[in-house]
Amino acid sequence: MREIALGRAAVMAEGLLLAGDPGLTVTSVHFDTRQLLPGALFVAIAGTRDGHDFLLQAAEKGARAAIISNEQKVPDSLPAGFGLILVNDTLRAFQKLAAAYRTSFSIPFVAITGSNGKTTTKDIVAHLLESRFSIHKTYKNLNNHLGVPYSLLQVEEQHQAAVLELGMNHAGEIDLLASLVKPQISVITYIGEAHIEFFGSREKIALAKAELLPHTDPDGLVLLNGDSEYLRKVAPLYPGRIMYYSVNAPADIWAENIQSADDGTRFDVCFRDGERFAAFLPLFGTHNVLNALPAVAIGRHFGMTTAEIIRALATVRLSAMRFERIESAHGPLYINDAYNASPSSMEAAISTFADLFPERKKVLVLGDMFELGENSPAMHAQVGAFANRYRDRIELLVAVGEQAQHLYDAYEGNKRYFPTKAEAVETLLAVRDAHHAFLFKASQGMGLWTLLQALEDHA
Ligand code: ATP
Ligand code: MG
Repeated sequence: MREIALGRAAVMAEGLLLAGDPGLTVTSVHFDTRQLLPGALFVAIAGTRDGHDFLLQAAEKGARAAIISNEQKVPDSLPAGFGLILVNDTLRAFQKLAAAYRTSFSIPFVAITGSNGKTTTKDIVAHLLESRFSIHKTYKNLNNHLGVPYSLLQVEEQHQAAVLELGMNHAGEIDLLASLVKPQISVITYIGEAHIEFFGSREKIALAKAELLPHTDPDGLVLLNGDSEYLRKVAPLYPGRIMYYSVNAPADIWAENIQSADDGTRFDVCFRDGERFAAFLPLFGTHNVLNALPAVAIGRHFGMTTAEIIRALATVRLSAMRFERIESAHGPLYINDAYNASPSSMEAAISTFADLFPERKKVLVLGDMFELGENSPAMHAQVGAFANRYRDRIELLVAVGEQAQHLYDAYEGNKRYFPTKAEAVETLLAVRDAHHAFLFKASQGMGLWTLLQALEDHA
């Protein structure tokens, strides 16, 4: 972060400087003392516990000042000269501070939202741009009302562009986050069923994601997944240039001849103007080819050459547990996609996995998908029915968890059901050999990777 003088920080946060020298500078902003660095401004935000309870701890870790809303909770024992900015609402103040900080930068900001594929798209976009520019990107998955301002406050002098992920569970959230980011370029990756329990319909989900559009610079660029009819409907909300990307049909930029190999995916990138080139992405699944297309378009928008783009695509790496390939010491191949799951991402993973490793027998280990509301049983059944299409290529389906029983019931191939992970170990051990490949996928809360670990740790 660029250093900020306390007097200036108070103005940015729309607060009153109660204590401390206005010229004293802070060099980072934190709301969690576990991450706090010396020189920080600590924001006392209410989480599971009130942030005001951590003021002393923040000072002990080297914070120079804090944003507070409750003077009564300020301990007397804070060091002399410790700065205090009083506001009505510390969360809003944190967001205002971040928004004001962002406007002091004239570099382009890229904002990415969608039901699935945000982090993947963010990582691919950043990776491509990194081959030519100094880039700031959202660390891991910090995409919410705290993570986005936190990410904005990490932009530094040397950065030439920022790539940020914006997440949401409820209507109105993207509106707020996008108003902080004010992007030049926006991407909406996909409209799925994630969090449908809060929305009721896919149209409503599309509208919520589309809150990004009015906040995007009208002279900028919006990239929309052209394979989503819902996104085509919201396009009129952006007055500027829209590019559609697709893996199914010609669009402004699309992929064809998609071929999976053992080490990734080959495809042709095609543009509406007739240009095309062959590319290789060391990731699996058509959905990842889709996630790479906005990156190609943005790379081009930033003036990267085709050769630069091809080179960068070939060296993309994703974070752990996103269709991560693990060669086991015991012989089998594991695909660990246990980071998260929704019906659309389950289906993407199943079809991708079915197409890979033709020499191996395939075992699907699928667990519960969370946050699907009252439709949860039906959606688990939908995924089970979807898997039927690949029955001839799947040796065994193992369903784990309470909701996964509905998935199990709808699947018509060779299958086993276990309410808990522990009960599944024995069955999986029996097929843990060099002839088999496993796909592990479930919502994060299932912790399905611990089952993979248990299998691997077993003698
Ligand atoms: P979160 O809401 O947890 O931040 P996200 O939107 O960042 O999720 P990713 O982490 O990129 O999404 O991907 C999560 C999973 O979604 C992947 O493991 C993959 O199975 C699936 N997925 C990724 N891209 C797509 C896509 N374009 N369409 C459908 N499913 C996808
Ligand atoms: Mg994410």
